[in-house]
Amino acid sequence: MNLICEMAAPFVANSAVEGSQVARPFRAHAEACLKCQARHAAMARTARELAAMSNETLVAPLDLEWRVMSALEGDLALARSWRTPIAVTAAVLSMTAAVLIWRLRPRTQG
Ligand SMILES: [Zn+2]
Repeated sequence: MNLICEMAAPFVANSAVEGSQVARPFRAHAEACLKCQARHAAMARTARELAAMSNETLVAPLDLEWRVMSALEGDLALARSWRTPIAVTAAVLSMTAAVLIWRLRPRTQG
């Protein structure tokens, strides 16, 4: 790739995506340059593939958040959606333990 190819690249990309001719200052170069034609063909193919994918609906796996958070923070990471239920469970367990300790406390006679 020479300097003219790099300068023409945005115009070649725009042409490939829109299916139009390369803009005037670089049209003659793009029509004569094999590298720019190859770039145009590759970008046009990618644009067609992206357009074909635009109607697909992909559903993320249920454990995606867990897997991502684990990868980012290590094995002890908690997914945000799990933090509230775990905090509520811990609070209920500690309140239960407090009530049991209070009810089972040793009582002195008199
Ligand atoms: Zn070129």
